[in-house]
Amino acid sequence: EVRFRSCLDDVAAYKPGKPPERADGRPTYKLSSNENPYPPLPGVLAAATEAAASMNRYPDMGALELLETLSARFDVPVSDLAVATGSVALLYHLLQASCAEGDEVVYAWRSFEAYPIAVQLTGATSVQVPLTDDARHDFKAMAAALTDRTRVVLVCTPNNPTGPVVHRDELVSFLDAVPRNVLVVIDEAYREFVREPATVDGVELYRDRPNVVVLRTFSKAYGLAGFRVGYAVGHAPVITAIRKCALPFGVSEIAQTAAVASLKAEAELLERVEALVAERTRVVGELRAAGWDVPETHANFVWMPLGDDTVAFAEAAQAEGVSIRPFPGDGARVTIGEPEANDLFLGVARSWRR
Ligand code: PMP
Repeated sequence: EVRFRSCLDDVAAYKPGKPPERADGRPTYKLSSNENPYPPLPGVLAAATEAAASMNRYPDMGALELLETLSARFDVPVSDLAVATGSVALLYHLLQASCAEGDEVVYAWRSFEAYPIAVQLTGATSVQVPLTDDARHDFKAMAAALTDRTRVVLVCTPNNPTGPVVHRDELVSFLDAVPRNVLVVIDEAYREFVREPATVDGVELYRDRPNVVVLRTFSKAYGLAGFRVGYAVGHAPVITAIRKCALPFGVSEIAQTAAVASLKAEAELLERVEALVAERTRVVGELRAAGWDVPETHANFVWMPLGDDTVAFAEAAQAEGVSIRPFPGDGARVTIGEPEANDLFLGVARSWRR
């Protein structure tokens, strides 16, 4: 019998979500993975198609053009940047580089589903600190959860799946309480959707803090989820640790090219983000008007606190052709999509008897 590491025993394999379905053949919508409903811009597709002509070659392992474009965009040195196949890969690399059996990783819960899995794979232990009643990070409790075994703290802002952002002041005071040998990962996958002036900006925070690293992605606001590109901003020793753990040639040439083209077309893409933010405001407003107590959200999704009704609600949405992400016993996360999709979801929410 083949034997695997014992830490694998507790790891839950990722479960693929249900594709939307509807018996009457009318359109269906996937609001379960926080994707961007808009396809890549024509110019981005054209650049990626051109890059596909050299797919007989390995990609540029150093992803230099992409790193240089990010470097200019954020005014950070290339040596402070790394890319990988999605920001989730960077999360895995950072944990693999920092943790092993006996170590602890502190993060708020509920948060991104990949966190417990990525921590378990290293053999380390998750220390999950409950969110406050309004679905925000409880930094007092997180500071109290630090021990001399803590190696990494994960901070997700806006928090997936609940939506609120971490404010700059609260994170700065928390960072002051974190020992300098503990790595703090600020996961800003939904950063571009934030419209809260008090929000933290990870790229500003990392500059004078060697133990802070920021993760961002092209999957959400830039609409390139299928290309699989994310980036990390951190000090050179952190970036070097990521590079040592990275798979060689992980980010394909088409993905690198699409990411560069998207940064060049950023103004146009951010107009789409603006449209999604407007839809978010509308959806949250209509849910609250219908009596739903939804937390504030600064991401491209909204949290529905459904408790024991979660699965039944997700099934009701599915029957209307809208797939959403249920977290049984707790609530459901619903991505903000195109207006027709949001209308269909709002119809389900309005007619739901509570
Ligand atoms: N962080 C958070 C908080 C996310 O919600 C996601 C995607 N669901 C990711 C990271 C990973 O995104 P990707 O790997 O596509 O960059």
